[in-house]
Amino acid sequence: MIVLGLEGTAWNLSCALVDEEDVIAERSATYVPAKGGIHPREAAQHHAEHMAGVVKAVLDVARKDDLTIEAVAFSQGPGLGPCLRTVATAARALSLRFNVPLIGVNHCIAHIEVGKWKTGATDPVVLYVSGGNSQVLALRRGRYRIFGETLDISVGNALDKFARQVGLSHPGGPKVEKLAKSSKEYIPLPYVVKGMDFSFSGLSTAAAQAAKKHDLADVCHSFQETAFAMLVEVSERALAHAEKKEVLLVGGVGANSRLREMLNIMCEERGAKFYVPEKKFMGDNGSMIAYTGLVMMKCGVTTPLAESRVRPGYRTDEVVVTWQ
Ligand code: AMP
Ligand code: MG
Repeated sequence: MIVLGLEGTAWNLSCALVDEEDVIAERSATYVPAKGGIHPREAAQHHAEHMAGVVKAVLDVARKDDLTIEAVAFSQGPGLGPCLRTVATAARALSLRFNVPLIGVNHCIAHIEVGKWKTGATDPVVLYVSGGNSQVLALRRGRYRIFGETLDISVGNALDKFARQVGLSHPGGPKVEKLAKSSKEYIPLPYVVKGMDFSFSGLSTAAAQAAKKHDLADVCHSFQETAFAMLVEVSERALAHAEKKEVLLVGGVGANSRLREMLNIMCEERGAKFYVPEKKFMGDNGSMIAYTGLVMMKCGVTTPLAESRVRPGYRTDEVVVTWQ
């Protein structure tokens, strides 16, 4: 089975073609804000401008290799409204054009499914950390249950906001990671875990304040140590509570080597296996949408046109997972 997938919830417009085995083709166009953070309307405009190009590149591969597309999957949410609408419009048009089913995919679940597909994890506790989301999840009785999540902004957003305030360009995460490597000292910053949930907004503000008096590298290091310890604490508790034996790290912040190191230590101490997909499958990508569409399609889940409206606040635990 071959499925075409379209992603474009925020900064990355990406179209891909996958089958059960692997990614056949993927083409992306990345929106980089001229200044500041992601502007939803500008990002949507970017996606609209590049849609024809990325889709055509992927369709050219299909045509050249004489492949038959059997469904069109798209990111239905969560994400930025204007971006979601641009992507959904294109997906509906493609589904009508090829006369194949449309499949609305939950973006967070796509991160998880592609992670499992590409690492071989079977039943993990998932730490999903990105620019828009921060959640600790695990599959229980047919749904990805949210064991813990952020009470305000995501860890990626907190890193990006802090970075912007200290004069680093978007996206801030990689720049903070680089600076943190030359740090000599830890500066205490607010560590906020409430039950199984965490909060990053105060940390972001406090770090920006601390940067006025302290060395920037030390603040970057302290931000990472504090935020990542919060994430690891909740992941560890979820692992114990859900009695799972695997941890899967997904989402753009998962590129961070210090976060990986901390999770790896925790997993070793608990006798759990730690899985991280290749970098190209960590951030937002079209392949994860195409692949999740494929597994949904295989068990008969498709989205009628009338139910294909976008869902900016689409929750992970709303989806009944029938394909496991
Ligand atoms: P996503 O929304 O999954 O595409 O991920 C984007 C987010 O990942 C942004 O907030 C980036 O700042 C963050 N990010 C990317 N690379 C790194 C890194 N090496 N360390 C920390 N955060 C990162
Ligand atoms: Mg994402």
